[in-house]
Amino acid sequence: MPARAPTKRMPYKACKSCGALVPKDATVCPVCGGTSFVDDWDGIVVILDNSELASRLKFSKKGTFALKVAGSYTFK
Ligand SMILES: [Zn+2]
Repeated sequence: MPARAPTKRMPYKACKSCGALVPKDATVCPVCGGTSFVDDWDGIVVILDNSELASRLKFSKKGTFALKVAGSYTFK
């Protein structure tokens, strides 16, 4: 098992406001309603519910998020 998935190959873009990953053809972020997206992102975290991981990463909503969004933020 590789430690990191080949995220760049996945057909997603990241919301610049909250980091949610959405399909390339989406126009509005389903998590925060934002309309700014970037293709340059890295790392995936899937938040299923109020898990420990979610609170640790300060994600408060369910969804799939990028850990790093160019020009926006990096979660550590
Ligand atoms: Zn968003």
